[in-house]
Amino acid sequence: MAPADALVLTLVALHVLEGLFWVHRHALVFAATTTSARLVNTDGPLGNTNHVFVILDPLPPLHPRFVVEAWPISVSESGVVRMPAELPIGTREAPAATAPFDYDALAEVTSSGKDVVTADRTVGNTSSVAFAHHLASRLRAIAKAANPADRTAAIDAMFAEAFDVDAARGRLLEFEKQTRFLNITSNLVPIVTIGGVAGILYVPWVANVWFSFAALAFGAYGLTWVEMFRAHRELYPELGGKRWQDLLLMIVSLPATARARGWIARDILAPYHPLTAAAVLLDADAFAEVARDTWRSLAHPLPVPAEARPIVEAMRARLRTHVAALLTARGLEPDTFAATPERSSERVVAVCPRCQSEFEQKQPECPDCPGVELVMPQV
Ligand SMILES: [Zn+2]
Repeated sequence: MAPADALVLTLVALHVLEGLFWVHRHALVFAATTTSARLVNTDGPLGNTNHVFVILDPLPPLHPRFVVEAWPISVSESGVVRMPAELPIGTREAPAATAPFDYDALAEVTSSGKDVVTADRTVGNTSSVAFAHHLASRLRAIAKAANPADRTAAIDAMFAEAFDVDAARGRLLEFEKQTRFLNITSNLVPIVTIGGVAGILYVPWVANVWFSFAALAFGAYGLTWVEMFRAHRELYPELGGKRWQDLLLMIVSLPATARARGWIARDILAPYHPLTAAAVLLDADAFAEVARDTWRSLAHPLPVPAEARPIVEAMRARLRTHVAALLTARGLEPDTFAATPERSSERVVAVCPRCQSEFEQKQPECPDCPGVELVMPQV
């Protein structure tokens, strides 16, 4: 391969690679388009058991992806346990729980990268620096409550915040406002980088005016870096370290500059429950699908180990209240999701209320949802 071809191919490869996100398979990833958003499949082959790579658009217009994930921990008045209250349908068993934390142990809880940690233990893992930071700050607020009533109020506030659809919508509008100019410059970057370099290498008249192209390219880079830094500071004032790190990555690997807006977009809705983000981003039918799975996983939960059970069940009760309120506000009736569907054939004698699998032989529980009792199908 000629050196010129290799250089262009390397630039293209870097541009694509810088558009990869490493997210939890249980996360909801929304791909925005000009007018709406759709859910991205997180069952892809590029990943491991728990995580998957999601790729940003390779060609302009570079639309953002928004990533939201359920809390990796359960929170109640009596403490916090490293165990999600919501386990998506398809999860075979609840993860092993570690000993619960009482709030004395959480007074100094903080985030370290994507983890929520105390001085000597990990409280939970997330797939985003912003989400870990958010969780740690809310846990500190709960831990600092002076009495039980204040503690309940702090927990309620954390849930109310996670399900605040208007605030989530406001956050998205703020993102749009703060990144309007960045949207132009970061879309310009791959065009001037790959197009410019290819032009200089292959087109004689472009090669003659290479200096103008280089000036244009570095103008686009410089503007994008400045705008990225400014917008990031407006939208994530608390994440100064991440801001400098992202800027450095863009300077070291120039094609990454095209991802400036995508990187900012990723966690813009991280503080919200996945269903709240779905309510803001999806159309009615797609929202109803997410709502149905969310409700079924809470209404027919997987059993959890005894030491985690009181905290996880208290968290599930709170989640059910908020999810039901959100569904009702969107004109959906939670009870209709809980009902078993009509059986597909007369041979079906039992249905799993959680995953809706049908069975032609009587058995006590669903093999895919251990611990969930089967019910009679609707006839
Ligand atoms: Zn099942």
